[in-house]
Amino acid sequence: MTLHIPFDNSYARLPARLFHRQTAEPVSAPTPIVVNGALAAELGLDAAALAGPEGTAVLAGNAVPGGADPLAQVYAGHQFGGWNPQLGDGRALLLGEVIDTAGRRRDLQLKGSGRTPFSRMGDGRAWLGPVLREYVVSEAMHAMGIPTTRALAAVATGEPVLRETGPMPGAVLTRVAASHIRVGTFQFFAARGDLEAVRALTEYAIARHYPQAEDAAGLLEAVIAAQADLVARWLGVGFIHGVMNTDNCAISGETIDYGPCAFMDRYEAGKVFSSIDRFGRYAYDRQPDIAVWNLAQFATCLLPLIDADQDRAVDRATEAVHRFPALFAARRLAVFREKLGLTDIGTPDEDGALIDDLLEAMEAGGADFTNTFAGLADGIARAAFADSAPFEALAPRLAARHAAQGGPDRDAMARANPRLIPRNHQIEAMIAAAVAGDFAPFRRLNEALANPFAATPADLAAPPAPHEEVAATFCGT
Ligand code: AMP
Ligand code: MG
Ligand code: MG
Repeated sequence: MTLHIPFDNSYARLPARLFHRQTAEPVSAPTPIVVNGALAAELGLDAAALAGPEGTAVLAGNAVPGGADPLAQVYAGHQFGGWNPQLGDGRALLLGEVIDTAGRRRDLQLKGSGRTPFSRMGDGRAWLGPVLREYVVSEAMHAMGIPTTRALAAVATGEPVLRETGPMPGAVLTRVAASHIRVGTFQFFAARGDLEAVRALTEYAIARHYPQAEDAAGLLEAVIAAQADLVARWLGVGFIHGVMNTDNCAISGETIDYGPCAFMDRYEAGKVFSSIDRFGRYAYDRQPDIAVWNLAQFATCLLPLIDADQDRAVDRATEAVHRFPALFAARRLAVFREKLGLTDIGTPDEDGALIDDLLEAMEAGGADFTNTFAGLADGIARAAFADSAPFEALAPRLAARHAAQGGPDRDAMARANPRLIPRNHQIEAMIAAAVAGDFAPFRRLNEALANPFAATPADLAAPPAPHEEVAATFCGT
């Protein structure tokens, strides 16, 4: 079981000012928690070797595997709309990249690996709770078919990490991503007027993610389309990212940064969980608008590359960003049509109104988001409502619409409506158990969520009892 990771590190070949080369800070007692066997296989890696002593040392940052070229990436970003010119991997290191069995280039990143020049006041560490949360939620997102970073492994460090609530057990997550390039990566260099770096990043991002894009404008358009698709898919599963800062907006179109994120239980259009999102900037229904805001920042970075004539560049970029609402609306319509089992025989206006009215009925009736849609296929959606009257009022319209196409598209409904989501109360219970040394709930949740379209085990499909409801989520780094 010797560990061999066939690295091919393209980011490390970019201009040196894009990153800081360094190794992780070793930890005293690394212990394996979990290795993702399916993902390891996809990456062409030996899961058993990763879970062994050599693998554990690597995943804890105590050993640098052959071919790795660890580095912290620099980036900037708008956090809650406020500009921060200097962010970067403050507690993460890109170990390197591998080409997976499907030929895709994937980053292997250690998160919680110690201090870097970008740590500012932070300790460079992560505690067990957020590590297991990201592991479970990102893998659940993947199983639902939503683009996301993945979780390859988690190891315990054997060292306490000091947080507001006291010392917590430390852990390191191994995150896998199509890349870790963010809008904020471009912003860092654009803000300094380092056009050469912006150009290098642009060429790199095109080659790595959007080879069909011909130039910076093409990259912008591709990223806009990817974000429109991503946010529509989030809305389709009741997901609230919670911290859609520009540094948490991946150029690849993957969901990244599972800090204060949450899936809604009871549907509320303006739902906010994050304790630090006091003004609801990143509420469920504001996510498309925030994506536009983030993409406008991205467009601004690319202006000098879009056209030498800056007036023309602004026109072209504005046009691209302004296309987002229509792209998003089309993707949202497609996502929710599938959820309702509607084929595209209806007009977008009529089907759109039906979707909006159903969501309104869900909010008025205190309906569980996931179980309403899952229940539609079984004719038991009303059971997901606290007060089913608003649903009863709408049901004949939905039935008539289904009849008009010869019955609901059940295959579409089965693939679009997860019956299991990582519910907040289940995640918190899982974390509490893990902190107390019991990882069984983590394993059970993780295993169940690998098949989110099956309603088993039944207890995991149940919404929280009133006393179990989680009111707020915390960045809890
Ligand atoms: P986030 O809110 O997770 O997007 O993180 C924002 C910035 O804070 C990033 O530059 C992180 O690397 C940094 N950061 C978060 N937690 C820590 C920590 N414990 N130590 C050092 N840097 C951190
Ligand atoms: Mg982040
Ligand atoms: Mg974070």
